[in-house]
Amino acid sequence: MRQRFAARAVVVGDREGTVVPDGVVDVEDDRITWVGPAAEAPDPAGAAATRLTGVLVPGLVNAHAHSPMVLFRGQGEGLPLDRWLREVMWPREARLTPEDVEVAMTAAAAEMLRHGVTTSVEVYFHPERIAAAVRAAGSRAVVANPLIGLPGFGTFDEQLATALRLAAGGDEVVEHGIGPHAAYTVPLPVLRDAAAAARAHDLLLTVHVAETATEGDELLAAHGVSVPRLLAAHDVLGGRVLGAHCVHMDDGDLALWQEYDAAVAHCPGSNAKLASGTARLRDMLDLGIRVGMGTDGPASNDNLDLFEDLRLAAGLARLRERDATALSAPEAFWLATGGAAAAIGREDLGQLTPGRRADLVHVDTDDIAFVPIGDPTDVLTHLVWSVGSRHVRDTWVGGRQVVAGGASTTVDEAALRADVQTRALRLARG
Ligand SMILES: [Zn+2]
Repeated sequence: MRQRFAARAVVVGDREGTVVPDGVVDVEDDRITWVGPAAEAPDPAGAAATRLTGVLVPGLVNAHAHSPMVLFRGQGEGLPLDRWLREVMWPREARLTPEDVEVAMTAAAAEMLRHGVTTSVEVYFHPERIAAAVRAAGSRAVVANPLIGLPGFGTFDEQLATALRLAAGGDEVVEHGIGPHAAYTVPLPVLRDAAAAARAHDLLLTVHVAETATEGDELLAAHGVSVPRLLAAHDVLGGRVLGAHCVHMDDGDLALWQEYDAAVAHCPGSNAKLASGTARLRDMLDLGIRVGMGTDGPASNDNLDLFEDLRLAAGLARLRERDATALSAPEAFWLATGGAAAAIGREDLGQLTPGRRADLVHVDTDDIAFVPIGDPTDVLTHLVWSVGSRHVRDTWVGGRQVVAGGASTTVDEAALRADVQTRALRLARG
């Protein structure tokens, strides 16, 4: 099927911040075939035409999430981390059923699509149910099977075997990966085996790294080196490695990330809410480290709105460096689109360029938040600083419309909301 989308402007989602005024995006099946000014567009050859009054941007890529935790949104607010985990999160998670995860992920995927997020990296229990939810909602995901030593979730060997079994059934809609929790919770030999398996099968390996200032203290005392150095020494860093958070990284740690071409999922919303710290985003980008924006789980953000995180990323980078040039608006938007796709090793996503998947988001510009526009790059400036996900009107994934006029076309959001509410209360009650 051929489709032509014409819009007031097309935002490509590249690092340079390319904006095409009065632009056209041609799509054949689930791929983009042509992007450029309407005046230069090829013969539409009978393509179905969609004329949009606002701007088209790439579907956003959320590089780090535990989205089924919509079940725990706002719970334990204000508690310190250790009490929040012991008294609120772990008792609830111990009661989770596979159905809870599937319902919650379906609701979360619909929430993300309404916010213009078409792909997410998910690390959570019951990955088959997460995959089913993603397919039902019509989004995309990289679903990493968690490796974590918790009662009821099997041995590390069994968890790794599950990850590899699932990976064999993946495709461009749901790709499976491996998600060892962190170096302070997963033994180093397990991390080494997981990384070797990930490399052997070209899977994404995603692991929490240096989220808090003190989480690596025991490892530092035992081994005398930082977690990034330990990961390098144990052969974990080669391949498609995505470190989540990476807040507390010294120059040597960042040099390792550069050397191994490891990527970073930058989660400023979660890092701010949990007082974890401010990552060295400018330094990472100057070193050529691949970085993508992540929301983290909705129990520690508390939403799945990547527009908020990219604005926060720009604000916090500027505050950290005390420099209004520390992160430009085009760079901030790129970190949630083309940059995030590169960070997760999916060059078929994140940009509106020929050959990539037709994941498109229509942002309504009929709003004072989009005024004035003189230079075309004003569109990007407004997208980052003034416009939010509330202006997202329509979303397509692989050329298929999944949000129309701000509402899901695939799932019943009101019914899901009621279902999540009932399940969340049951999980809290015990
Ligand atoms: Zn996380």
